[in-house]
Amino acid sequence: MDQKTVFPPPAAPLVPVAGTGQFFPVHRIYCVGRNYAEHAKEMGFSDREPPFFFMKPADAVVVAAGDTPTSVPYPPQTSNYHHEVELVVAIGKGGRDIAVADALQHVFGYAVGLDMTRRDLQAVMRKDGRPWCIAKGFDASAPIGAIVPAEQAGDVAHASITLHVNGELRQQGHTDQLIWNVAETIATLSQAWTLQPGDLIYTGTPAGVGAVQQGDVLQAQVQGLPPLRVRIV
Ligand code: MN
Repeated sequence: MDQKTVFPPPAAPLVPVAGTGQFFPVHRIYCVGRNYAEHAKEMGFSDREPPFFFMKPADAVVVAAGDTPTSVPYPPQTSNYHHEVELVVAIGKGGRDIAVADALQHVFGYAVGLDMTRRDLQAVMRKDGRPWCIAKGFDASAPIGAIVPAEQAGDVAHASITLHVNGELRQQGHTDQLIWNVAETIATLSQAWTLQPGDLIYTGTPAGVGAVQQGDVLQAQVQGLPPLRVRIV
């Protein structure tokens, strides 16, 4: 029987899969906090701790897969709008309580992403012990490049990760510096949520986060993946 809806249901956000003409439909966006030691230090934390997670809405995705920068709007209610370049894992096979040894079989592919952050609002929420969503899960807060299928992505576990703003190097790291690697992250995440095909995991940012302004052009790169280019408007 036809289920009548009171308005058309929104379509899943789509991310292009490089070289295929096909798209990856986004289900959820999970993010890992403080997953590089040098970034944890710059945020004022030094001890290794179990991975922790927050989410962004699926429609926070902004596809930035072209040669020319994709426009990303400067968000309201902030004067400290930060870039965080991250390796993004695209889940192709769901599951729960996934073993570390099996975790990479659940990966469809990889992309470069930006976990854009209203840092001033994050600081207020953290101080008051309140949820981070207003700082992390706002509109257009999750730019992403094309997804490369895992078998074509090269060794993303041992790849350089960089962010340039207006051609100047701002963030530079290496994915082998991840405190919790991709397999460990998937395993831990799947103990708390049932992972589904279409889930994206932003795996954390290396040191060097900082503010951007309207007019800035950001280029994010992970070795072996196509670059992501955005312009803040
Ligand atoms: Mn992040």
